[in-house]
Amino acid sequence: MAAAQQVKEYLAYWFQLGKPLQFDRGGAILPHPVIEGNAYSPAFEACWQRVLASGGQGCYLAGTEQSIAELLSGAWDMADCARCEMPVPTRSLGIQSSACPCADLPGWPNTELPQPRSPIDSRSQLEQIRQRLAQTQN
Ligand SMILES: [Zn+2]
Repeated sequence: MAAAQQVKEYLAYWFQLGKPLQFDRGGAILPHPVIEGNAYSPAFEACWQRVLASGGQGCYLAGTEQSIAELLSGAWDMADCARCEMPVPTRSLGIQSSACPCADLPGWPNTELPQPRSPIDSRSQLEQIRQRLAQTQN
């Protein structure tokens, strides 16, 4: 099943491509920035808390059919889109679901643009490891 953490990451990735979270009652939110330094931004965390508070009821990522509540229900899993490697919901039972939200993004995938990411910056982690190694060698 798609754990809450996976759904959170899914939203974070798509927000970085400008896909807002839409509400059945009207309105949409798109926190910006999504990432600050090596963590999710306060704006994104506030949005996520709002989603969790409602159990994901009545909101869904623009261009998708599954509400966040459905994604949190356990009937869905997260897989990588075959076209752009972004996280997409798939049925846990193995039936391929509808298209990736990237289907209506013009000019995507685009390898020229910085790719959406998680807050963990592996490059700076590598740099820390490299520095630690350098120190132990002195
Ligand atoms: Zn895609």
